[in-house]
Amino acid sequence: MNIFGPVNSRRLGLSLGIDLVPGFCTFNCVYCEINRQKIRTCQRREYIPTVDIITELDQHLADEDKAELDIYTITASGEPTLHNGIGRIIRHIKDHSSKPVAVLTNGSLLHMPEVRRELMAADIIIPSLDAARPAGFLALNRPAAGLGIDTIIKGIKNFKEEYPGKLWLEILLCQGINDSEDDIKALEHAVDSIVPDKIQLNTVDRPPLEANARPLSRPRLKQIAARLPGEVEIIARGHSDPAAHKTVRPNDPHEIIELLKRRPCTSEDICLTLNYEKTWVLTTLEKLAEAEQITPTRHRDLKYWTMTKETNERRKGNKEQRAE
Ligand code: SF4
Repeated sequence: MNIFGPVNSRRLGLSLGIDLVPGFCTFNCVYCEINRQKIRTCQRREYIPTVDIITELDQHLADEDKAELDIYTITASGEPTLHNGIGRIIRHIKDHSSKPVAVLTNGSLLHMPEVRRELMAADIIIPSLDAARPAGFLALNRPAAGLGIDTIIKGIKNFKEEYPGKLWLEILLCQGINDSEDDIKALEHAVDSIVPDKIQLNTVDRPPLEANARPLSRPRLKQIAARLPGEVEIIARGHSDPAAHKTVRPNDPHEIIELLKRRPCTSEDICLTLNYEKTWVLTTLEKLAEAEQITPTRHRDLKYWTMTKETNERRKGNKEQRAE
């Protein structure tokens, strides 16, 4: 399934997710929470046939009036702008729905005119910019060969100048990697040149790919938020209000599996994201664990659930990367 939800998104409301690229990304961030092995690449292609995604989308668009939905969110278990059908998919939604479309991207390909053109029809673009200095960028985002931070910043800036919609810039900070005085100064400068409509400041939350990806404290995040120009919203866990509770659809274990395929979640995350009742979620998680479909893991004193197969693949991927 390439489409999941609707899920309660902390930032966007009740969102139908469209996952365009499974396991391919231009980065290999130390904080990545995608629970599957990834391949680093800058090659744009049709990772999933565009026609298959549109066929799946049409089933949702036909029932849109009955579904409670705030937004369509284009995302990926990797980087969605690697999919060269992204523009066609955005336009298809816009032609058949009155709901807004958001795109979550790491911003690395916005320097390409064709990518900027393809994203024009969306209503909200949320690119990441975690570091504005080469050292922090390389240590944190670990980009594919040929991607430089100055080119990426210029790409985001050019896009903002051409784009009629909203651009929210997400900045994720990790302790000791991209939060030094020089890093923050460089970020201030980059934000000044981009002029985003809003900044969303984040830190490590769910179990990260690497153990050295550590979160910043709340006081430190607030301090940095006060320094960045323009409107800044802290979106790290504990800072934002959960999305309003809405009745979505009957409890379904497959929805939990689809969610865990994309990111590790606590039982509370699952209840909030899918609007499911807590006792049912806890019982279902135990049953899925007994069937060895999911595995518990601890991170920052919280119990997270992940898919067993993907967890094993990620561990294997990590070992292979260290052996490179
Ligand atoms: S966090 Fe996002 S940009 Fe970074 S490696 Fe994971 S999927 Fe790619």
